[in-house]
Amino acid sequence: MSETPRGDRVVLVTGAAGGMGAGHARALAAAGWSVALADVADCTPVVEEIRAAGGVAEGHRLDVTEPAAWASVVARLHSTYGALHGLVNNAGISRRLRFLDTTHDVWRQVMAINVDGPFYGIQACAPLMRESGGGSIVNISSIAGQIGYFSPSYSTSKWALRGLTKSAAGELADWGIRVNSVHPGLVETPLLAGSDGFVDSAVASIPFGRMGRPAEITEVVAFLLGDGASYMTGAELTVDGGLVSNGTYHRILTEMEGEL
Ligand code: NAD
Repeated sequence: MSETPRGDRVVLVTGAAGGMGAGHARALAAAGWSVALADVADCTPVVEEIRAAGGVAEGHRLDVTEPAAWASVVARLHSTYGALHGLVNNAGISRRLRFLDTTHDVWRQVMAINVDGPFYGIQACAPLMRESGGGSIVNISSIAGQIGYFSPSYSTSKWALRGLTKSAAGELADWGIRVNSVHPGLVETPLLAGSDGFVDSAVASIPFGRMGRPAEITEVVAFLLGDGASYMTGAELTVDGGLVSNGTYHRILTEMEGEL
């Protein structure tokens, strides 16, 4: 068991108390990163699990919509490790409400967490990354940020995150900081809890015929954080079993089985 701070490869993962963020944190720690887990929820169980497995991890209470909270997390990372090399802007919420059912409060809440959060995070983390010799920022968007999606708050927020990625990539290139976005399709996590009918119908449009596994998103996040992606910035990686590229005709051909 190791709890020694190691400042050579430090990554901050938001929304790490559960779902895909916890999976990213576990895998990155297993790969040798010192992982700072941040969430409005308690990250302690995941932190303890990582430490028990011999990894280096620490938990932070962070509401990503609060710039002052970001500043204090970054200050703690500075004093613990003296460095930061990776940021995974993973925290996000989805409100599957249709256009006219989306209230002002829902709209503002989704925008605050899914767009303001990563913006404040990049602003807070970039200077320490620069001091650390550069780094990699991975923004978790969605295929809802690449196509039209019925929930205006979720879709608009994920398109905005895609735009924020491109903007930050240009601005931070001089500091050796790469910024890319990941666009998962449907992935089996609590985010989709209670939407069985929606999921069953959506799977019919996925050429791979199944939802994604969280670990399949983690692999792409780890790749973007690592040196293998050293020439990638401003890019977007779609990880969706073919839904965006081929979903429409997959469904059409399935429905027309035998008629072509
Ligand atoms: P999840 O709901 O399982 O986990 C999200 C985490 O974010 C939770 O631990 C929650 O406490 C945390 N969080 C919420 N508000 C926060 C705040 N204000 N500050 C800090 N943390 C906060 O979700 P997930 O399915 O693991 O999704 C992770 C990311 O992947 C999200 O950005 C989501 O939009 C995106 N995504 C998910 C899917 C999917 O099918 N599950 C598909 C595409 C994109």
